[in-house]
Amino acid sequence: MTEQKYFRKGFKMRENVQHLLDRDYRSEVVDRIRENGNVFETEGLTIRLADEFGFCYGVDRAVDYAFQTREKFPERRIFITGDMIHNASMNDRLREMGIEFLSTGFEGPPEEAFETLAPDDVVLLPAFGAPVDWVEKLRQKECVVVDTTCGSVLSVWKRVTRYAQKGFTSIIHGKYYHEETKATASQTSRDGGNGKYLIVRNLKETGYVTDFILGNMAADELKEKLGHGMCPGFDPGKDLQRVGVANQTTMLMSETMAVGEELRKAMIERYGAEKVEEHFELFDTICSATQDRQDALFELLENPLDVMIVIGGYNSSNTNNLAIIADERVPRSYHIASGDCIDGEIIHHKPAGTPLDSREEIEERGWLPEGPVRIGLTAGASTPNSQIGLAIGRILEARGLPREAALA
Ligand code: SF4
Repeated sequence: MTEQKYFRKGFKMRENVQHLLDRDYRSEVVDRIRENGNVFETEGLTIRLADEFGFCYGVDRAVDYAFQTREKFPERRIFITGDMIHNASMNDRLREMGIEFLSTGFEGPPEEAFETLAPDDVVLLPAFGAPVDWVEKLRQKECVVVDTTCGSVLSVWKRVTRYAQKGFTSIIHGKYYHEETKATASQTSRDGGNGKYLIVRNLKETGYVTDFILGNMAADELKEKLGHGMCPGFDPGKDLQRVGVANQTTMLMSETMAVGEELRKAMIERYGAEKVEEHFELFDTICSATQDRQDALFELLENPLDVMIVIGGYNSSNTNNLAIIADERVPRSYHIASGDCIDGEIIHHKPAGTPLDSREEIEERGWLPEGPVRIGLTAGASTPNSQIGLAIGRILEARGLPREAALA
């Protein structure tokens, strides 16, 4: 019988790995605070958790499938194309399980990494998906592929594939170097699509595009400014006549809407309101988990807070966006990679608004004010509860209280 080579729905072995997932990622402290309405108070210290935080459905599923894969193929070499999710402790855990990484960082595997693979090898694709050409290389190598791409990412792929089939260029609001955005861009070439895309990071970059559409910028200048996010052979004169907007699932919702609005206005100005539908489409592809976490943070920030802590990988897009929201509203806001970034009166954190691939980390002393203090806490979609529980324990210690106080 021919061996099945492509798996997208796990191996129905969740019950076999549930105890490992609980051991590594659950937190009794977090469970207890959740039961108490997301608030914990003791001796002048108040900790408020956002109503939604931490692992999203896509990450939960990807992590589950990774554990199941190890269980299913105990004797095989197992690889992953890059970070499973943007959380260092999670990726370290996979390494402990003997899963090898074909790349680290945003670049993706070099050609030689694919060359080392053999037909018996198992390769995991991460929650944010993988570009079409990587999947094709794995198919040619006859590897077993366990694809954990999140359903919300697949929805974006469907959208850009449709744009391409209609002859629309996909304008993708995202970070051009991010794995998910690269994978999404690659989908424009599937199934007879015209393969045209342009990635814009923010409103400033969108402004270059609208300047070109309105005749205020030359094609060469646009290519110079945004060439890093253009598909090969991009011809602004031809490829910016009909555009459809989609986005990386973890962007700031408000920014995506503003990007779409600027492009829509430019198309109306250029072609007239009666023809705008022939030239412009928008489909909001921010995933509900990202949206829920952003909404819950806004709600949390309605409470008066002295300190706000956002936990999640420094290279995690959705966590960085939570950190930006927090930083704009609470002067003492800290984005920490994990609970152990809190060490007594010292906190190690990443400044809000720095690029995802920035390694900048600041050490700050005296982060916790004296006297009564109100601390807000949230976490990105790739942060396990165990990290949040650890952070709470470290906060208690910084106040001279035992970690167990949260369980009393
Ligand atoms: S952040 Fe959204 S798109 Fe990404 S894995 Fe989670 S649910 Fe899926």
